[in-house]
Amino acid sequence: MPSVLDTPIEFLKGVGPQRGELLRKDLSIGTYGELLQHFPFRYVDRSVFHCVREINEELTQVQLRGVIGPLKMLGEKQGRRLAVQFTDATGSIELVWFKGIRWLQTSLKPGQEYVVFGKPTVFNGRFNLAHPELELAATWDQGLDVALQPVYSTTEKLTARGLTSRAIWKLQKALLPTVMGQLPETLSRELLDLVGGVGREEAFRQVHAPQDRTKLDAAVRRLKFEELFFIQLQLLKQKLLLQQSLRGNVFTQVGEHFNRFYHHHLPFELTGAQKRVVKEIRKDMGTGRQMNRLVQGDVGSGKTVVSLLSMLIALDNGFQAALMAPTEILAQQHFHSISRMLEGMPVVLRLLTGSTRTAERRSILTALQAGEVHIIVGTHALLEDRVQFQRLGLVVIDEQHRFGVAQRARLWAKSEIPPHVLVMTATPIPRTLAMTLYGDLDSSVIDELPPGRKPIRTVHRFDSARNAVFGFMEEEMAKGRQVYVVYPLIEESEKSDLKDLNDGFESMVRRFPLPKYAVSIVHGRMDQATKDYEMARFKKGETNILVATTVIEVGVDVPNASVMVIENAERFGLSQLHQLRGRVGRGAEQSFCILMTGEKLGNDARARIETMVRTNDGFEIAETDLRLRGPGDLMGTQQSGLPQLHIADLVEDSALLQQARQAAMRLLDTDPGLAEPRHAPIARALHEQLKGQAVWGRIS
Ligand code: ADP
Ligand code: MG
Repeated sequence: MPSVLDTPIEFLKGVGPQRGELLRKDLSIGTYGELLQHFPFRYVDRSVFHCVREINEELTQVQLRGVIGPLKMLGEKQGRRLAVQFTDATGSIELVWFKGIRWLQTSLKPGQEYVVFGKPTVFNGRFNLAHPELELAATWDQGLDVALQPVYSTTEKLTARGLTSRAIWKLQKALLPTVMGQLPETLSRELLDLVGGVGREEAFRQVHAPQDRTKLDAAVRRLKFEELFFIQLQLLKQKLLLQQSLRGNVFTQVGEHFNRFYHHHLPFELTGAQKRVVKEIRKDMGTGRQMNRLVQGDVGSGKTVVSLLSMLIALDNGFQAALMAPTEILAQQHFHSISRMLEGMPVVLRLLTGSTRTAERRSILTALQAGEVHIIVGTHALLEDRVQFQRLGLVVIDEQHRFGVAQRARLWAKSEIPPHVLVMTATPIPRTLAMTLYGDLDSSVIDELPPGRKPIRTVHRFDSARNAVFGFMEEEMAKGRQVYVVYPLIEESEKSDLKDLNDGFESMVRRFPLPKYAVSIVHGRMDQATKDYEMARFKKGETNILVATTVIEVGVDVPNASVMVIENAERFGLSQLHQLRGRVGRGAEQSFCILMTGEKLGNDARARIETMVRTNDGFEIAETDLRLRGPGDLMGTQQSGLPQLHIADLVEDSALLQQARQAAMRLLDTDPGLAEPRHAPIARALHEQLKGQAVWGRIS
């Protein structure tokens, strides 16, 4: 049965074809249901009035009641504006508009009494109100029952066509009576009680036309809970489904490979956290269900060896394992460090990347299929169809947030029983995000660094202090240490960035000349061979300084490098800065991170730099990053698979999210099929939601 919510927006009174088109294009509101889900982003208390004489700098918003004078067009071009004198019993103030003038000219009625609302600003030594909201006092009085007025997001284009926040509010008020009686409850009695008892229709009514603050708060809470609850329910149901339907290879034994490596090859004692995580992984792989586990560990926490031990368990059970890294450099590095660790072990390890030569590639592919290669390390190249395994048992994905869900899925297709999957990420994900993004994965945290690490000392220096920084580099190099100097290169094609990098390189070479010093340079536009050569020289200690772009961001491991200089640090995101900093502090020496910036810093940039200087804790940094940037930017909304939230907020509503997840877990524990009558509203709503949706879950 078609729902009233699917009615095209044009049909709503006050919309029509033209506005309908605009709403659809600019706000993605194409139906009644989508309008209903266009929630206010704040509320204004309109019971408070001011008078013109009271206006001062402290007031961020004023509401006035008075009469408007004649309309005047002033200024030219950019400065062209519509001005109207507004007068109450105590004085007058100018109202101005730079946009939407045509519409105002036809709708404003000089001589009439209006209620205006806006932010006073000073212009030419006098207060005025730019782009105030306003309404005829007579109309306003009719709506007096609503003191809390919702404010809706809109766009300049819509505002110019009269679709202001206020106009959208009017549409909502026209819509509400139309849909009442047709918004079925989606929560069970039990959940309703849990979240404060506000029914669904009542919640929508209060959100768009609140009666008072208490009722509004309860309504918002209910709607947020509902939104978060159904996301969690879907994720957890997915997880349940995977566990039930996807058989996994059973790794029953820990055998020769694991034990021999553990007792004779491991160059250090595992940390407690590493031991715990290895145990969790072992347990997962023994259950007969496919493992889907996320391992989060700050940079340097030792994820590589954890993945290696897991792969050895696969080998012990007669399976092959694959390790996939996001870049060529990282894949190579993993390959080399694992080769070194496995020296003397009867394990065949190969590297497959985009630049593997044809002949070698052929031999690798044949050997893989014949089961003669035990562990393959590689990049995206591993995802290609022609890469076939004899018996793939475990896939480790390093630094996974760069691999999309769809890519994870392609690995599944490579064997009948899906391989176990271990996802490793060095960018700690704030809890709320992890729950939402990876709610279908189990998660482990390596929350301990290997012993003896000295916390990296981070400082902020302005460009003007460059000489002192050079002096410091010199001192450290005199002690035999190496230095990274990193430049931003957002798009590898940006010419000016590349020029900065090259200039930086040249000034380094001038300041630190041969034969005493040697400087390497690495960036993404170099050909692979040159890049490898330069990296290798730095790794071997043949060069003292590596000038590079963020190609060295993840994973690169040179323990003797103890100084990280980040140029134009204000241009980097927090997690990127943290990743870069993680390149030092890998040896026993005291390490340093120097953040260079210009004198002028925006608020966000300043906050990022201060956070870096204050803490080394990746989780704290991730939380701050989330707060500064919001979840979408943080994860890159497009690829991330973050669900679109209409009302809840992953930063503000983390407690509610927690509650929603627990409620969903409890529900699935007691009634996994949602078959009990008391859960019927939930089952119906879930069914509705899943209807039009591509189900990733089946393959991820
Ligand atoms: P990440 O978690 O950033 O990938 P790595 O696995 O590259 O970290 O490990 C960082 C460094 O710490 C490597 O040089 C590794 O050999 C070393 N390492 C790992 N675990 C331990 C440990 N338990 N004790 C001492 N050193 C360790
Ligand atoms: Mg790593």
